[in-house]
Amino acid sequence: APRTVLISGCSSGIGLELAVQLAHDHRQRYQVVATMRDLGKKGALEAAAGEALGQTLTVAQLDVCSDESVAQCLSCIQGGEVDVLVNNAGVGLVGPLEGLSLAAMQNVFDTNFFGAVRLVRAVLPGMKKRRKGHIVVVSSVMGLQGVVFNEVYAASKFALEGFFESLAVQLLQFNIFITLVEPGPVVTDFEGKLLEQVSTAEFPDTDPDTLHYFRDFYLPASRELFRSVGQSPQDVAQTNARYTPLAALKAVDPSGSLYVRTSHRLLFRWTRFLNLGLRCLACGCLRIRIWPR
Ligand code: NAD
Repeated sequence: APRTVLISGCSSGIGLELAVQLAHDHRQRYQVVATMRDLGKKGALEAAAGEALGQTLTVAQLDVCSDESVAQCLSCIQGGEVDVLVNNAGVGLVGPLEGLSLAAMQNVFDTNFFGAVRLVRAVLPGMKKRRKGHIVVVSSVMGLQGVVFNEVYAASKFALEGFFESLAVQLLQFNIFITLVEPGPVVTDFEGKLLEQVSTAEFPDTDPDTLHYFRDFYLPASRELFRSVGQSPQDVAQTNARYTPLAALKAVDPSGSLYVRTSHRLLFRWTRFLNLGLRCLACGCLRIRIWPR
């Protein structure tokens, strides 16, 4: 029998692409429940699903920030059984910390971290009873390494990593497996939404130096990063081979200093050579390790 796969955040980006690829599996191994917060945005998914719609793919409403929505969604799944859960829904937040509201930060954790926790708690009893299941978590390379001006987003992804790594140990006893996916930059609506947020935000209480570093160093570097090594959601739905995380530097130097200093140098001292640096990362070559101090 096909495995029931529940995916959150399928109105766009990686979630949409993954849902469509699984629904089009030529061996029809999956029955995909592609969920989204706002069903008014289901047009793109339905168009991409084509003939799979109503066959191997169904669309359902699910807000990962709402217990009621999660319960309602699961009650609509035949037998309530989810074989594979993909925690994909997520939001970003960039900017100088002093200029961001606590409410915005809490929203990031409510969605990225507690949203995943909420879903896992809901499907876990069934998986444990059946002694079978797979939980996939779309984390980020920022779940492995901190990135300047992304403190809260990175923290939410670090939280996911710690949570699921801990849970994975217990779940082996139940034959339930966890996969953490850590994409680098992916060209989806995600970056567009962030840039929109940044262009309208005023970042009150932020000193001019910090604003200068954010606007004149970070933002151009970030755009360049997406332009030069950004993957497509189609790539990510299959594999994540193009981006070798700077996190490797953490393994080389467990004190963490090498990673922090290299990131600092990349952004503030090597902006002129940014293209070169990023291409290095893209081909997996950590040449930055021998860059001068
Ligand atoms: P995206 O904005 O296209 O997709 C995110 C989806 O999550 C959207 O469909 C959005 O509506 C949904 N969502 C947000 N809040 C929700 C809620 N409360 N309930 C249900 N759905 C909600 O961007 P994407 O790049 O496809 O992001 C998917 C995942 O990949 C996210 O977890 C993101 O953190 C992660 N990721 C993205 C990148 C990138 O560069 N785009 C890199 C690494 C990881």
